[in-house]
Amino acid sequence: MQQKLATVGTRLWPDIAKTVPDTRQYPSGVAYVDGTYTTISEAKISVLDWGFLHSDATYDTAHVWNGRFFRLDLHLNRFFGGLEKLRMSIPYNRKQVAEIMHTCVGLSGHQAAYVEVICTRGSSPTFSRDPRQAINRFMVFAVPFGSVANKEQLERGLRVAVSDIVRIPPKSVDPSIKNYHWLDLVRGLYDAYEQGAETALIRDTDGNIAEGPGFNVFTVKGGRLSTPGYSVLPGITRQTVFDICGILGFEYRAEAISLETLLGADEVFITSTAGGVMPVTQVNGQAIGNGNVGIVTEEIMKVYWDRHEHPDWSSPVEYPDS
Ligand code: PLP
Repeated sequence: MQQKLATVGTRLWPDIAKTVPDTRQYPSGVAYVDGTYTTISEAKISVLDWGFLHSDATYDTAHVWNGRFFRLDLHLNRFFGGLEKLRMSIPYNRKQVAEIMHTCVGLSGHQAAYVEVICTRGSSPTFSRDPRQAINRFMVFAVPFGSVANKEQLERGLRVAVSDIVRIPPKSVDPSIKNYHWLDLVRGLYDAYEQGAETALIRDTDGNIAEGPGFNVFTVKGGRLSTPGYSVLPGITRQTVFDICGILGFEYRAEAISLETLLGADEVFITSTAGGVMPVTQVNGQAIGNGNVGIVTEEIMKVYWDRHEHPDWSSPVEYPDS
């Protein structure tokens, strides 16, 4: 981290603290690439990077709400787990990665931010095809918080279509390594748009429901929650819903969910760092339950957002002018 430093407020910050936020560019934000903090519009990587050429990368997305990171430890666990499984290494430990993420948010000035930490395979100095020769590239960026569902969709529930596209199987790509293999999810989205829906769910190799572009899914039936247990990313928001079930005394299970089970649910919702707990009130043009946002969903949404202030689940960001 060789940076020119400047004193801003009471702390030494990288020099660009004086020039950000860069509001001329949308989304405005700050990145850390190749050891340097920079504005988001200047953050670039080589076209020879295997992360770009082969999707050979892992990443994690955390968020900041009201100036506090939410469950950053869980995101770091998943990110470092992915690095190990992909045999990648970075010259920073957990504490340093957390600090870089905090600094990007602090510099961006965003009180509500979407913060991505990424490691790509990088490329080798000789352009060798041997991944062991590659120099892994580490980066972080912080931009304004974004949601899968907009305000109107959060209030009335999303309209979802189930596509017949199959999620890349766990035997090919381990879904516990958060990855950019999204061609199946994007095909699912186009299927959904053709059916007049707003987003998609795609299937596992057995034809059951897997997940959607950037989210997990839950059903509620007779007060019990279920979510697919196979062929999905173990989402941090999904884990948070499990924890909230513990707090509220709801039973939950990770198990196979067929299309029929999904359509017959009392309530359906999706979960993602990008938006939290988001209601679904229509699947394949058919109303779920009575067609309104369910009461269990509403209760879980409320606890989810309340918990963003809880010191066990969140930590404050330091901003240059605070
Ligand atoms: N499934 C996929 C494929 C994702 O990309 C994501 C998040 O980006 C999720 C599920 C939800 O995970 P999380 O709750 O950790 O955001």
